[in-house]
Amino acid sequence: MRYEDKILELIVTSNEHLTAEQLFFKLKETYPGVVLATVYNNLGSLYKSGKIRKISLDGCPDRFDKNTKHDHLVCRRCGSVSDVYLADFTAAIEEQTGIAIDSYDLNISYLCPDCKNKEKNHQN
Ligand SMILES: [Zn+2]
Ligand SMILES: [Zn+2]
Repeated sequence: MRYEDKILELIVTSNEHLTAEQLFFKLKETYPGVVLATVYNNLGSLYKSGKIRKISLDGCPDRFDKNTKHDHLVCRRCGSVSDVYLADFTAAIEEQTGIAIDSYDLNISYLCPDCKNKEKNHQN
């Protein structure tokens, strides 16, 4: 299997929104000789061909995601990303703006359960 296929498989079967480095370590389990530059190159071409999504957030390394239509809950404290499946707003956006759009990224800010717990413990 080519690296690109394996990387795509790792992304599609994961809900973790992996960074290039995390993908590199997973890939190393199967291909000990792989180098990080190869992972970056393959991620670049997968992204360019529209097979994967990229999540870019301030202060976080890029994360990669399957290309099915969904949106993201992003923890404002730790930056963890969870999937949320909402209605597709493409038609509503196009209707309101009169412009054909390619895609949109909806990142919903919240406090994840882990951080919420930490905050609670901190207050007690
Ligand atoms: Zn959090
Ligand atoms: Zn996602």
